[in-house]
Amino acid sequence: LFSLIFDLEEERLKAEISKRKAKRVLIQLPEGLKPVGPRLAEIVEEAGALPIVSADPCYGACDIAISEAKNLKADLIIHYGHTEAVKAKIPTVYVEARAKVDVSKILEKALENLSPWSRIGIATTVQHIHMLDVARKILTKAGKTVIIGDAGHVKYPGQVIGCDYSNAEAIADDVEAFLFIGGGKFHAIGLALATMKPIIAVDPFENRIHPIADDVKRILKQRFMCISEAKEAESFGVLVGLKIGQIDMKAAMRIREYLKEDGKKVTMLAIREITPESLMEFPSIDAYINTACPRVAIDDASRFHKPILTTNEALVMLGKISWETLLNKGWFKHFI
Ligand code: SF4
Repeated sequence: LFSLIFDLEEERLKAEISKRKAKRVLIQLPEGLKPVGPRLAEIVEEAGALPIVSADPCYGACDIAISEAKNLKADLIIHYGHTEAVKAKIPTVYVEARAKVDVSKILEKALENLSPWSRIGIATTVQHIHMLDVARKILTKAGKTVIIGDAGHVKYPGQVIGCDYSNAEAIADDVEAFLFIGGGKFHAIGLALATMKPIIAVDPFENRIHPIADDVKRILKQRFMCISEAKEAESFGVLVGLKIGQIDMKAAMRIREYLKEDGKKVTMLAIREITPESLMEFPSIDAYINTACPRVAIDDASRFHKPILTTNEALVMLGKISWETLLNKGWFKHFI
């Protein structure tokens, strides 16, 4: 089923292994694609290498299993579902897992939702990046002015990832609304937080348009409450991510310094998977600042028993930037 929906590039996989004469291959898959692991392992084995499938969670291109590959003495990593975002010292092949679903039908339907606006930005994930042209044509034919941003941070113009909406931010002032193409609400919500524009989120897998305005309102209210609650805290845990693309020692050190200046107690915590269970092991800590993946605090705050803030939200709490700046400049800008 998965190979009907996503292009797993099996022939390229074989060719890469032969070309590189790889002997031991670590295969990394995002959560939704894990079920194809055993099948891909067979292909790797047929190509003459020992396959090892990583069973650890993998949510983004920030999480390339470099140290795991080193420990396993693997000579190649095959990473599915994301584009390159970190420089790996072990040869890494990225397979984008493009979706083989057509977007035209749902886009025709979305024209109705887009009727209040004439200047539209388009954004999507790498899985649908080949559909940008189709989308542009449909919208242009309907009389819209279409803009696709290219800030040069990610691989493709118009592409967004969970914590990088720079392509959309670059054109936010020039458009009235965004059309987002992709599964679920996660990236569409990120796009809204990054640009504060109306988002029409078309999901080509479910063939439907997700309403996200209420989710965004709820998240903003909750983030404001979380910042206010954290202001009352005396003792903070500053989380430093251990995933290669999430380590931000500079931000962690700066936040530590600011908190100490404010007379707060600070413990630096190194962590790979940020879960409520891991944080519950530190009952004396009142609140957490997470300098790793910003989506943990934004999307999962209700699962945590103590307030957990992103780096930018911590800057608001500490009075270094205002709440309005966070709203206007976008949730994913780097202020440190
Ligand atoms: S840091 Fe978070 S949002 Fe960004 S790529 Fe990694 S998992 Fe995705």
